[in-house]
Amino acid sequence: MATQYHNLINGEMTSNGEWLDVVNPANEKVIGQVPACGAAELDTAVAAARAAFKTWSKTPIEDRRAVVQKISAIIKENSDELMRLLTAEQGKPHAQATGEIIGASMMAGAQSTLTLEDEINEDSETRLSRTRRVPVGVVAGIVPWNFPVMMAVQKIAPALLSGCTIVLKPSPFTPLTTLRLAELIKDVAPAGVVNIITGEDSLGPLMTAHPDIDKVTFTGSTATGKKIMEGASKDLKRITLELGGNDASIVLPDANVAKVAEQLFWSSFTNAGQICVAAKRIYIHEDIYDELSAAIAEYAKNVKVGDGSEQGTAVGPIQNKKQFDRVCELIQDAKDNGYKFLVGGDVDPSGSGYYVPITILDNPPEDARIVAEEQFGPVMPLMKFSTEEEAIARANASEYGLAGAVWTADPDKGVEIAEQLETGTVWVNEFLHLSPFAPFGGHKQSGFGAEYGKEGLLEFTYPQVITVKKDNVPA
Ligand code: NAD
Repeated sequence: MATQYHNLINGEMTSNGEWLDVVNPANEKVIGQVPACGAAELDTAVAAARAAFKTWSKTPIEDRRAVVQKISAIIKENSDELMRLLTAEQGKPHAQATGEIIGASMMAGAQSTLTLEDEINEDSETRLSRTRRVPVGVVAGIVPWNFPVMMAVQKIAPALLSGCTIVLKPSPFTPLTTLRLAELIKDVAPAGVVNIITGEDSLGPLMTAHPDIDKVTFTGSTATGKKIMEGASKDLKRITLELGGNDASIVLPDANVAKVAEQLFWSSFTNAGQICVAAKRIYIHEDIYDELSAAIAEYAKNVKVGDGSEQGTAVGPIQNKKQFDRVCELIQDAKDNGYKFLVGGDVDPSGSGYYVPITILDNPPEDARIVAEEQFGPVMPLMKFSTEEEAIARANASEYGLAGAVWTADPDKGVEIAEQLETGTVWVNEFLHLSPFAPFGGHKQSGFGAEYGKEGLLEFTYPQVITVKKDNVPA
C-alpha cells in the first residue's frame, strides 16, 4: 500500500479516513495517499486557526520571526528527503527540486527579516497620528502544483510574521512534500497557527466562501483566480492573486548569440516550462534570428528529457495528465496549421509517464494558439521582429502581464524597453530571478496585489490609524 500522509490540524497529524491517490508523473504509479477533506475538516481547521489567532496576533513579532526562522532551518536540514519526495510527486529533476527546497528555506529566512514598524503621520503640538499594522486574521492559502513547496512557504512565512494564522491547501496533484513538511514543523508554532489540509479542487471554493476566513492568498490559473475573486466578494475577504502569464522575451540584434542561446533555452524549459514566469514567447530581431534559433536548436539536442530521479535528466515530465493533454493539444494545433518545428513535436504515446519532448517552433504567426495562450509546458515559439516598437507592441498584446525579459549588449537600452513592457517584473539579461525583498505580482489579468517584500507582507495586515488630540484632554 502507498504511504499515507496526514493533515496538520490544530497541532495534530490527522486523517478523516478517506484518501486521494497521488501519482508520480514519471511513471504514473501511485506513490502516496492524502486525506480527502471537505467542509467538516475545513471547519475544524478554521476553528483552530481562529482560536490560535487570539494569542498569535498578540505574540511579539520577534517571537513570530523566530518561528519563521525555525521553519526555514527545518526545511534546510531536511532538504535531501524533501527534494526526493518533491521529484517523485512533481516530476522536476533532482537538481531543480533541490533548488526549490533550498530556495523555499532561503525565501522564508529572508522574509523573516522584514519589519512592521508604526508610521507617524502627524506629530504636531495638537495631534499625534500613527499608523500601525494589524494582522487581517485567518488566512486561506491555496497553492498550485508547479512549485508546491516554494508556494506553500511563501504564503506561510509572511502570514506568520504578520501575526495571521493560516489554513493551507496544496494542489491535489502535489500535496506530499507539503504534508511531510507539515509533520516536520508541527511543533514549531503553537497549535492552530499553521494548518495544512488536502482535498480535491472542490475544497478551494469552500475556503473562499468560508465565513470565518478573512483573506485568501492564491497562486494558480487566471480562470481559478477569477472564481476566487468572485467568491471573496461575498464578504469582502482580502485577496492576493498570483496568476498566469504569457511572458515575452525580446532579443535585440546586439545580443551575444553564443551566450544567450543557453540562457534563453532555460528561461523556457526549466521545470519543463511549467513556471508562471517562464519565457513563453521569444521575439528575436531578424538580423540574428537564423543564427540564434539554430544555436538554441543545437543546444536543445543535448538536453535529456526523462524521469527526474535519474541522473542526467534535465527536463522532467509534465506534472499531470490534464496539463499533458493540454500541451499535446497545442502541439497538435501547430501541426494542423502547418507551422514549422525546429525541434521536437512528436509525443510518444507508448510507455508510461507524461513526457513531452523539447519542442521549438520556427516563427509561428502571432495568432497561433501556442503564441496567444499560456502553454505551461516544454514548447517554445521563436518569432522574428524588425523594429523595437513592433516587438514591444507584440509583447504587450496580451491579457497577461506577469513578467518579461530583454536581452541586449546595451543595458540602458534594455531598461528603456523594460519600462515600456506592461508586466510586474522585467529582467534585463537574466531570467527567473525573484528577490524576497522585491514585490512580485502581475499586471492586468496576471494577478491582484503582490507577494514578497514589504509590499507582500503588508497584504497580510490592515492599516489602523490611531489619532490622539493632544490639546483636548478632558479635565
Ligand atoms: P489551478 O488554478 O487549477 O489550481 C491552483 C489551486 O487552486 C489548486 O490548489 C486547486 O486545487 C485550487 N482550486 C481549483 N479550483 C478552485 C476554485 N474554484 N476555488 C478555489 N481553489 C481552487 O492552477 P494549477 O493548474 O494548479 O497551476 C497552473 C497555473 O498557475 C498556471 O496558469 C500558472 O501560470 C499559474 N501560476 C502562477 C504563479 C504566479 O506566481 N503568478 C505561480 C505558479 C503558477
